[in-house]
Amino acid sequence: MIIVSCILYFTTMEFGAVIKHNQEKSPKTGAWRYMHPEVDKEKCIGCGTCVPFCPDACIEMKKYKEGQRDKADVDYEYCKGCGVCAEVCPVKAIIMKKK
Ligand code: SF4
Ligand code: SF4
Repeated sequence: MIIVSCILYFTTMEFGAVIKHNQEKSPKTGAWRYMHPEVDKEKCIGCGTCVPFCPDACIEMKKYKEGQRDKADVDYEYCKGCGVCAEVCPVKAIIMKKK
């Protein structure tokens, strides 16, 4: 019975979708942000893991030094200080600091 229920559930389930973030429609953060992320560019290995995890799509990989991989760069106009990026960084290159 459970198997039949699972099959029925998955065959009737609607598929999800990834909605592309449009930063032009995003609200700017203003002065209320309590914490802000600081990227240690020397520690950052340029893996890009933090980019898709940011709920506000405000991390970009940007050129840092010649001959090195691009490094994470935060757009503070939109960053809400949630700390997700710091949590997912595999080398702990992002530290959350109080403003
Ligand atoms: S603190 Fe949150 S909003 Fe700000 S860059 Fe990190 S993941 Fe994005
Ligand atoms: S997850 Fe960490 S190491 Fe990877 S790009 Fe972001 S800051 Fe750099």
